[in-house]
Amino acid sequence: MKGYLQSIETMGLLDGPGTRTVFFLQGCPLRCAYCHNPDAIAMSGGKSVSPEQVLEIASRYRSYYGEEGGITFSGGEPLLQGAFLHKSLELLKQEGYNTCIDTCGIGNPSFFPKILPLVDTLLVDVKAFDHESFENLTTIPGFERYLTFLESLENYGFRGQIWARHVMVPGYTDNEEAMKAFVEILRPIRHRVDRIEILPYHTSGVKKYRQLGIPYRLEGVEPMDKERAKELEIYADKLFADSLRQERKKERENNVDKFKILKDREVISKIEKAEMFSSLRELPLLREVADEDVDGVLSEVILSNIKAGDYIFRTGDAPDLMYLIYQGQMKIFYNTIDGEEQIFYIYRDGDFVGGLNLLVQAPYRYVGQALTDCKVVAIPKSTFDKYFYDSSVILRSVLTKSFERIRWAEELIQRLATSNASMKTAGLLLKLVKRIGVETEEGIRLELSMNREELGNYSGLRRETITRKLGEFKELGYIELVGNKVIIVKDLEALEGYVL
Ligand code: SF4
Repeated sequence: MKGYLQSIETMGLLDGPGTRTVFFLQGCPLRCAYCHNPDAIAMSGGKSVSPEQVLEIASRYRSYYGEEGGITFSGGEPLLQGAFLHKSLELLKQEGYNTCIDTCGIGNPSFFPKILPLVDTLLVDVKAFDHESFENLTTIPGFERYLTFLESLENYGFRGQIWARHVMVPGYTDNEEAMKAFVEILRPIRHRVDRIEILPYHTSGVKKYRQLGIPYRLEGVEPMDKERAKELEIYADKLFADSLRQERKKERENNVDKFKILKDREVISKIEKAEMFSSLRELPLLREVADEDVDGVLSEVILSNIKAGDYIFRTGDAPDLMYLIYQGQMKIFYNTIDGEEQIFYIYRDGDFVGGLNLLVQAPYRYVGQALTDCKVVAIPKSTFDKYFYDSSVILRSVLTKSFERIRWAEELIQRLATSNASMKTAGLLLKLVKRIGVETEEGIRLELSMNREELGNYSGLRRETITRKLGEFKELGYIELVGNKVIIVKDLEALEGYVL
């Protein structure tokens, strides 16, 4: 495998943290008016290099990188050479290098989930702040695509820091209104933005255009005044800090609302709460609560009626409550970047979720939605800390549950990656047998709370496929379908044969 390089800078100080070796990759689909590497724009040309050679070059300068420095891929547009970039980053990461890419988010998106988890710092070039200016500057209509790239970074698995950069050209974006628009664009990635940089436009690339005989579109525009650019950078920084503060305030208000919603639906009858507690008392989570603390716990937890279809928590919710299902069923899912719903777990009576979030203070990553009418116990963090935190049994129970989820997620990944539709359907039925199967004379009865679409989302299949596969299993005599909500498994062994 080969990549195409325009040049290498061995001791770069500007393209990411610390001292870095910068690989400038060949090729860029944009035609930025101020591009000072017009010779790097063409996809062809450049010097070919393998990922192994990148690693070898990086190792020559390793002693200069210190704690922060490392390797940067710039360009051109490095994401255009997806396979090469992925392999190079993989090798570099295996050897513990700090990695950075300088990008406009243009490339084959199928590589993004492979590349972005391997990146420590992303230098995000924000070319323009609206569709029209983007097109004028770059000559292509890519603004929407660019915004989608920013919005999808988390879903692609990017967990590093972002330096957001903007080249300021006098007469174009050297004003406060433009800085407001800049900060607004950063909204979906704000939690990862570590630095905002305004790069003053300069004219040192003009002579390259003359040498190459390419017309220069900013002919006659003076270089950007550095002091004014710095002033506007400070202004944008302050705006950004303000917007973060506002967001946090809003999040706090939303959390208050979340408590209010639960409180509005609270079961206030003391008898029902006491009944609930005694019936859940045998769970490891509650068994350890000392008898003298029961009244205290009961007065603090919120037992709420949640209607089928209502949300219990959403992605990004603060870790201030965990949830225990007293009655009913809840699905835990997330929306994939293709807009599909991927269901991870179906939880029912006695299951709980959110314990690990409280322990490590991490926001919820998934969505919890009631599949049936539910009664859910919300345990506030303060109650958890006061009554539960010191119990090794409770902590073990939270960790065991988390471990089960990891196992289930691993199985899911394997199933989605390696199984065909029959295997996925059989695997799903076996999972349901384990979770909700009831032995009857006719076979193992599964009372479903999910429709066909949700069954598909749980198993990684489309609704039509799962419906067809269930029909086939019925024809083969493995199962019986009773309406849409009941499946009777007649031949467990035959289903097991698909997944063993
Ligand atoms: S994105 Fe960078 S390399 Fe591509 S045209 Fe613009 S300035 Fe040049």
